[in-house]
Amino acid sequence: MSSFVYDALPMRVVFGSGSLARVADEVERLGLQRVLVLCTPQQRELADQVAELLGNRAAGVFDQARMHVPVETVEAAGTVAVDLEADGWVAAGGGSTIGLGKALALRTGLPVVAVPTTYAGSEMTPIWGLTQDGRKKTGRDRSVLPHTVIYDPDLTLSLPPSVSATSGLNALAHAVEALYAPDVSPVVSAMAEQGVRDLAAALPLIAADPGDSAARAACLQGAWLCGACLGSTTMGLHHKLCHVLGGMLDLPHAETHAVVLPHVAAYNLPAAPSAAAALNRALATDDAAAALAYLGSRLDVPPGLRDLGVAASDLPRIAAEVLAHPYANPRPVTGPDLETLLHTAWKGRT
Ligand code: NAD
Repeated sequence: MSSFVYDALPMRVVFGSGSLARVADEVERLGLQRVLVLCTPQQRELADQVAELLGNRAAGVFDQARMHVPVETVEAAGTVAVDLEADGWVAAGGGSTIGLGKALALRTGLPVVAVPTTYAGSEMTPIWGLTQDGRKKTGRDRSVLPHTVIYDPDLTLSLPPSVSATSGLNALAHAVEALYAPDVSPVVSAMAEQGVRDLAAALPLIAADPGDSAARAACLQGAWLCGACLGSTTMGLHHKLCHVLGGMLDLPHAETHAVVLPHVAAYNLPAAPSAAAALNRALATDDAAAALAYLGSRLDVPPGLRDLGVAASDLPRIAAEVLAHPYANPRPVTGPDLETLLHTAWKGRT
């Protein structure tokens, strides 16, 4: 075993069917008296349910969370919180809502309780994001890490099969890149391998029956493990590429990850034998990149970047932007390599 540093992140996880009912206990445990419940407009009903469970510990609901955390949304939520004298946040929803909670924590220092309802994994990371004037800034700060995460698989039953599929592959991407990260460690490798195993087995079951509670629980457990890998390591080409594609072309987050992942895996895994071996074990295969592509096709994810609205003429500037900023990757990336990879991902499965 080579040398490594593992810097554990604090995490309190309350997991299980029906665990949302423990939200008031968790808020009380943190000594909070008046929390503001955060959600997207689409998840208002869930936020109202959370507020009801919190009783007089709920100060109100802010239902304007948006993708990519616009600074105006953070300001609007902050104003509501001051008016209501809120002393903490319960973020109930996907990565967008949890991202709003983290941005508010960064600004105010007030703690977040996260109730994730997708597989994106933001609740397990100290990474925050904020969009101002069309530019997304990201950073790492431990103060944004949720103090408690309540994983209730029942809340994911309403996640449509197509979103479950892309969100699950978004989670898998965290584990794939963690396995070959420069700061990988045995703890992270074990979490990543198990996370991939959980998600790869359960996602097809959810596609067949979105109401399969056992599969929902397995996916959420996988998402937790993969999110924890993201929080503890430095991501490589895949995350860089998806970040640039999302930022420059305003592409949907989870779909972009789902489309790009097998292509980056095919490029990187020959240069990362122990990551490839872990993925092969988790996916019960001898070709993890092909198995990831096959999983995507079984889950009906969009075949290629062109199906997300990317034009072939967009690819050179995406490649140039990715090459302009160095990042960790197990295999060096040249301009021609990247253009070939991008073109293959653009054309997609045929
Ligand atoms: P999202 O939070 O934008 O949710 C997508 C839509 O699905 C929203 O309308 C939401 O209301 C709805 N939804 C969520 N859960 C649902 C459910 N159970 N049932 C029905 N509808 C539901 O999407 P996401 O993919 O979870 O998050 C994407 C965002 O998270 C991106 O901005 C990304 O950058 C960020 N992210 C951040 C990190 C991090 O570590 N900081 C990690 C992963 C993702």
